[in-house]
Amino acid sequence: MPKLTAGSAPHAEPSVKVSPKGSARLKAGHPWVYRSDVTAPDDVLPGGLVRVTDLRGKFLGTALYSSSSQIAIRMISHEPVADLPALIAERIRAAVAYRKKFVTNTDAYRVVFSEGDFLPGLIVDRYHDVLSVQILTQAMDTEAVRGAMVETLVEELKPAGIYERVDARIRELEQLPARASGLVWGQKSTTEVSMNGVRFLHDSKEGQKTGAFLDQRENYAAAAHYAHGEALDVFCYHGGFALHLAPKCSSVTGVDSSRPALEVADKNSALNGRELEWIEGNAFDLLKDYASSGRQYGTIVVDPPAFAKTKRDLDKALRGYKELNLRSLKMLRPGGILITCSCSFHVSASDFQEVVADAARDAHKSLRLLESRGQAKDHPILLNVPETSYLKCLILSVND
Ligand code: SAH
Repeated sequence: MPKLTAGSAPHAEPSVKVSPKGSARLKAGHPWVYRSDVTAPDDVLPGGLVRVTDLRGKFLGTALYSSSSQIAIRMISHEPVADLPALIAERIRAAVAYRKKFVTNTDAYRVVFSEGDFLPGLIVDRYHDVLSVQILTQAMDTEAVRGAMVETLVEELKPAGIYERVDARIRELEQLPARASGLVWGQKSTTEVSMNGVRFLHDSKEGQKTGAFLDQRENYAAAAHYAHGEALDVFCYHGGFALHLAPKCSSVTGVDSSRPALEVADKNSALNGRELEWIEGNAFDLLKDYASSGRQYGTIVVDPPAFAKTKRDLDKALRGYKELNLRSLKMLRPGGILITCSCSFHVSASDFQEVVADAARDAHKSLRLLESRGQAKDHPILLNVPETSYLKCLILSVND
């Protein structure tokens, strides 16, 4: 965690003590301590700042406290913090500067990635002149923090609108009062963006996540580099992969179970002057039908939703990935390209690679790994925080 604000004022904040297990975790660089490893006094405010000490009273840093989450504290600094809104503003400015340095060829990207930007519980996505914000913790929901956040984003990025996407379930879990999604600044919530030269419509009020899967943006360009022949984009959503593949492929078909997503995908293809085929259906059924009717493709993208939401779902998730990849491999011509993804944090990179290898054995094909990729750089991975790394994207060349 960077040392940004080191206040030396005497502390009014309550102190919480962490167990030896909790303090070992903090020393290893992880910012979270679970409730079972924290002793908090009665006067700790939900979402408040707390001084963190070990059992002997040695100061370990400053954290944000949640009265309801299993993650009782999230470290925000190794130093005392005198002014939380000022620290939040500084961290947002640093996050914006990081993007200016490393994010290219797009006006749609993640500006703030929670722990990855030392701002636990805050997500900010930029869609050209519209920002879409998600607040996931008690600490980020206080009026003072919200105020600093909006003011800094306006100063730094000059948006025409800032829209807050509310996840009712998360507010309930954090014991925060219900709140509706809506504009928190400005008037604009719809716009148009351009990623890698491909245009997309954006509406902050609609769609999944904050409107798009920005974490795949660099993988779209990588996939397009290898794509050829007839292409199938399975779980296509608004056509992120499909539209990037279109200039390289003789035809592109996108498949998704969500009609509203496909309606946007269709508008996106018109916006780019392309004709693509969109099919509404269940990917598992469709792949089964297509594979048994002997269809063949040059390129297939498989990018399903997270199958393993918890560790308990792991086996079921692996079976799901195996089936999708097996059916896709059967339909790829020799020399074909498989782009296969998993966004389940609980499925590790090696688990995923193994499941794809298993599918290849069953399909009697050999696969050569062209690229093993992850999430785009605007979703920074903190090496000491495994939870910040979740997306896997393998690009493979298929041999019979
Ligand atoms: N590739 C997309 C993101 C895919 S997210 C992109 O880059 O933008 C997963 C998508 O799978 C969602 O659009 C969701 O509507 C769709 N989906 C979920 N279950 C499905 C199923 N059984 N069959 C087809 N689509 C499904």
